[in-house]
Amino acid sequence: MLVAAAGGAVAYVSGRDADDAPAGTPLARPATNPPAQPQPPGQGTEPTQSAGPRATPGQSGSRTTQARPVTYVFPIGGCKASASQSHHDYPASDIFADKGCQFVSPVDGQVDEVIRVDSWDPETNVGKDRSGLSISVVGVDGVRYYGSHLSAIGAGIEPGVKVRAGQTLGLTGNTGSARPTPPHLHFGISWPTPPGKWWIRRGSVPPQAFLNSWRKGGSLSPVTTVAKAKRAYGTDRGCRSYC
Ligand SMILES: [Zn+2]
Repeated sequence: MLVAAAGGAVAYVSGRDADDAPAGTPLARPATNPPAQPQPPGQGTEPTQSAGPRATPGQSGSRTTQARPVTYVFPIGGCKASASQSHHDYPASDIFADKGCQFVSPVDGQVDEVIRVDSWDPETNVGKDRSGLSISVVGVDGVRYYGSHLSAIGAGIEPGVKVRAGQTLGLTGNTGSARPTPPHLHFGISWPTPPGKWWIRRGSVPPQAFLNSWRKGGSLSPVTTVAKAKRAYGTDRGCRSYC
């Protein structure tokens, strides 16, 4: 298991405003649709309803057919990290940690999508490019986990490759729209989709309750929450907000 949150240590970060960027950092200020700043850790999270692993529906008669419990791991390894308890525009968490910290897979699963090139242009701030370098994994629980703004992606991390909970996928950074902000892992939870549906992949349910559990060694599962959100979302009509 990882010890990222040992002792409950919390890294202090500032960075609500681009003005907090290190001296000399060019601050992009597009005339319209400016990149939103990540929200630092704070109060005001709403508890998220969720449930742990449970028996597969329709198989209540036998103990041997129960779903195997899934082990979850906090997605930053080997560094102090502080997860924001809210997020601008859509559900996600910005997990502040130094550049170069390990982004680890939160579950056993399979690599989904990998973006190795930072195409973000602050002048256009196109939604599909805001991630910078990013990786998503579809867990054995059927849920997709996504981390972006990475500075590097591990060798051999390609779509279809199997990974284990706690395995290093890449390193934290501030690529994409995080360029003017302190380094952080943007972390999103969603249901799997065909490739390229970044408006779902970036985060579709609030991940805070799960991150807070995993950080303390718990294994709170987002399976039920994600299934409910997918039903409520309905037919995908493309990006609907903050596009
Ligand atoms: Zn974010």
